[in-house]
Amino acid sequence: MSKLSGLGCKAVIFVEFVPVTDESKDLAPGDKEREYLKGEIERLRKEHPEMVYISFPGDEKSSGGCVAAGRGFFHINSHGGAEPCPFSPYSDINVRDTSLKEAMNSRLFRELRDGGYLLEDHPGGCTLYERRTDVERIMADSNR
Ligand code: SF4
Repeated sequence: MSKLSGLGCKAVIFVEFVPVTDESKDLAPGDKEREYLKGEIERLRKEHPEMVYISFPGDEKSSGGCVAAGRGFFHINSHGGAEPCPFSPYSDINVRDTSLKEAMNSRLFRELRDGGYLLEDHPGGCTLYERRTDVERIMADSNR
Protein backbone atom coordinates (compact mmCIF):
# COMPACT_ATOMS: atom_id res chain seq x y z
CA MET A 1 0.00 0.00 0.00
CA SER A 2 2.89 2.37 0.67
CA LYS A 3 3.94 2.02 -2.95
CA LEU A 4 0.41 2.72 -4.23
CA SER A 5 0.15 5.71 -1.90
CA GLY A 6 3.50 6.99 -3.11
CA LEU A 7 2.29 6.76 -6.69
CA GLY A 8 -0.65 9.01 -5.81
CA CYS A 9 -3.36 6.35 -5.50
CA LYS A 10 -6.41 7.74 -3.66
CA ALA A 11 -8.83 4.81 -3.65
CA VAL A 12 -8.54 1.04 -3.41
CA ILE A 13 -11.44 -1.27 -4.22
CA PHE A 14 -11.54 -4.85 -2.97
CA VAL A 15 -13.97 -6.99 -4.95
CA GLU A 16 -14.89 -10.38 -3.49
CA PHE A 17 -15.70 -13.33 -5.67
CA VAL A 18 -19.47 -13.35 -6.17
CA PRO A 19 -20.89 -16.64 -7.41
CA VAL A 20 -23.54 -16.58 -10.10
CA THR A 21 -23.90 -20.34 -10.51
CA ASP A 22 -24.73 -23.06 -7.99
CA GLU A 23 -21.49 -24.85 -8.90
CA SER A 24 -19.34 -21.89 -7.90
CA LYS A 25 -21.24 -21.07 -4.71
CA ASP A 26 -18.65 -22.77 -2.50
CA LEU A 27 -15.92 -20.49 -3.84
CA ALA A 28 -17.46 -17.41 -2.21
CA PRO A 29 -15.65 -16.26 0.92
CA GLY A 30 -17.26 -17.47 4.12
CA ASP A 31 -17.61 -15.62 7.43
CA LYS A 32 -14.03 -16.40 8.44
CA GLU A 33 -12.51 -15.04 5.22
CA ARG A 34 -14.76 -12.00 5.28
CA GLU A 35 -13.78 -11.22 8.88
CA TYR A 36 -10.14 -11.50 7.87
CA LEU A 37 -10.61 -9.12 4.94
CA LYS A 38 -12.53 -6.70 7.16
CA GLY A 39 -9.67 -6.74 9.70
CA GLU A 40 -7.08 -6.12 6.99
CA ILE A 41 -9.05 -3.21 5.57
CA GLU A 42 -9.42 -1.71 9.05
CA ARG A 43 -5.65 -2.01 9.47
CA LEU A 44 -5.06 -0.29 6.12
CA ARG A 45 -7.48 2.50 7.03
CA LYS A 46 -5.38 3.20 10.14
CA GLU A 47 -1.99 2.83 8.46
CA HIS A 48 -2.87 4.71 5.27
CA PRO A 49 -5.75 7.09 6.05
CA GLU A 50 -4.79 9.14 2.97
CA MET A 51 -6.61 6.57 0.81
CA VAL A 52 -10.25 5.49 0.66
CA TYR A 53 -10.99 1.73 0.87
CA ILE A 54 -14.10 0.20 -0.61
CA SER A 55 -14.94 -3.44 -0.05
CA PHE A 56 -17.52 -4.92 -2.37
CA PRO A 57 -19.76 -6.61 -1.35
CA GLY A 58 -18.09 -6.61 2.11
CA ASP A 59 -19.27 -3.07 2.94
CA GLU A 60 -22.87 -4.09 2.36
CA LYS A 61 -23.27 -5.13 5.99
CA SER A 62 -22.49 -1.62 7.23
CA SER A 63 -24.77 -0.22 4.49
CA GLY A 64 -27.70 -2.28 5.78
CA GLY A 65 -27.76 -4.72 2.88
CA CYS A 66 -27.43 -4.88 -0.87
CA VAL A 67 -26.77 -1.48 -2.44
CA ALA A 68 -27.86 -2.40 -5.97
CA ALA A 69 -30.94 -1.26 -7.94
CA GLY A 70 -30.32 2.41 -7.24
CA ARG A 71 -30.15 2.01 -3.47
CA GLY A 72 -26.47 2.92 -3.74
CA PHE A 73 -25.68 2.39 -7.38
CA PHE A 74 -26.82 0.55 -10.46
CA HIS A 75 -25.02 -0.89 -13.46
CA ILE A 76 -25.36 0.00 -17.14
CA ASN A 77 -24.46 -2.84 -19.46
CA SER A 78 -22.74 -2.44 -22.82
CA HIS A 79 -26.14 -2.18 -24.58
CA GLY A 80 -27.40 0.58 -22.32
CA GLY A 81 -29.58 -1.67 -20.18
CA ALA A 82 -29.83 -0.49 -16.58
CA GLU A 83 -29.27 -3.51 -14.32
CA PRO A 84 -29.46 -3.71 -10.51
CA CYS A 85 -25.79 -4.82 -10.38
CA PRO A 86 -23.29 -6.60 -12.67
CA PHE A 87 -24.08 -9.70 -10.60
CA SER A 88 -27.80 -9.38 -11.26
CA PRO A 89 -27.85 -8.87 -15.04
CA TYR A 90 -31.55 -8.14 -15.59
CA SER A 91 -32.88 -5.01 -17.17
CA ASP A 92 -36.29 -3.56 -18.00
CA ILE A 93 -35.12 -0.10 -19.10
CA ASN A 94 -32.45 1.32 -21.39
CA VAL A 95 -30.60 4.57 -20.73
CA ARG A 96 -30.50 5.26 -24.46
CA ASP A 97 -34.27 5.83 -24.25
CA THR A 98 -34.60 7.42 -20.81
CA SER A 99 -32.84 9.68 -18.33
CA LEU A 100 -30.71 8.23 -15.53
CA LYS A 101 -33.37 9.42 -13.09
CA GLU A 102 -36.05 7.44 -14.91
CA ALA A 103 -33.76 4.42 -15.07
CA MET A 104 -33.24 4.66 -11.29
CA ASN A 105 -36.99 4.38 -10.91
CA SER A 106 -37.63 1.54 -13.33
CA ARG A 107 -40.27 -0.92 -12.27
CA LEU A 108 -37.66 -3.59 -11.54
CA PHE A 109 -35.55 -1.27 -9.36
CA ARG A 110 -38.59 0.09 -7.50
CA GLU A 111 -39.95 -3.37 -6.78
CA LEU A 112 -36.58 -4.56 -5.52
CA ARG A 113 -36.17 -1.51 -3.25
CA ASP A 114 -39.77 -1.27 -2.05
CA GLY A 115 -40.23 -5.03 -1.72
CA GLY A 116 -37.43 -5.27 0.85
CA TYR A 117 -35.36 -7.63 -1.30
CA LEU A 118 -32.20 -5.62 -0.75
CA LEU A 119 -32.28 -5.45 3.01
CA GLU A 120 -31.97 -9.10 3.85
CA ASP A 121 -28.80 -10.46 5.40
CA HIS A 122 -27.14 -13.15 3.34
CA PRO A 123 -24.50 -15.76 4.04
CA GLY A 124 -21.93 -14.48 1.56
CA GLY A 125 -22.10 -14.11 -2.15
CA CYS A 126 -24.99 -12.07 -3.41
CA THR A 127 -28.50 -11.27 -2.16
CA LEU A 128 -29.95 -10.86 -5.62
CA TYR A 129 -28.35 -14.07 -6.82
CA GLU A 130 -30.01 -15.85 -3.91
CA ARG A 131 -33.28 -14.17 -4.88
CA ARG A 132 -32.89 -14.57 -8.65
CA THR A 133 -36.21 -16.40 -9.02
CA ASP A 134 -37.94 -13.34 -7.50
CA VAL A 135 -36.01 -11.05 -9.84
CA GLU A 136 -37.03 -13.22 -12.80
CA ARG A 137 -40.67 -13.16 -11.63
CA ILE A 138 -40.66 -9.35 -11.43
CA MET A 139 -39.11 -9.24 -14.91
CA ALA A 140 -41.76 -11.62 -16.28
CA ASP A 141 -44.55 -9.55 -14.65
CA SER A 142 -43.26 -6.34 -16.18
CA ASN A 143 -43.19 -7.93 -19.65
CA ARG A 144 -46.89 -8.81 -19.47
S1 SF4 B 1 -26.62 -7.55 -6.29
FE1 SF4 B 1 -25.26 -8.88 -5.10
S2 SF4 B 1 -23.17 -8.25 -5.53
FE2 SF4 B 1 -24.56 -6.64 -6.25
S3 SF4 B 1 -24.66 -5.16 -4.57
FE3 SF4 B 1 -26.36 -6.62 -4.29
S4 SF4 B 1 -25.60 -8.26 -2.97
FE4 SF4 B 1 -23.83 -7.11 -3.74
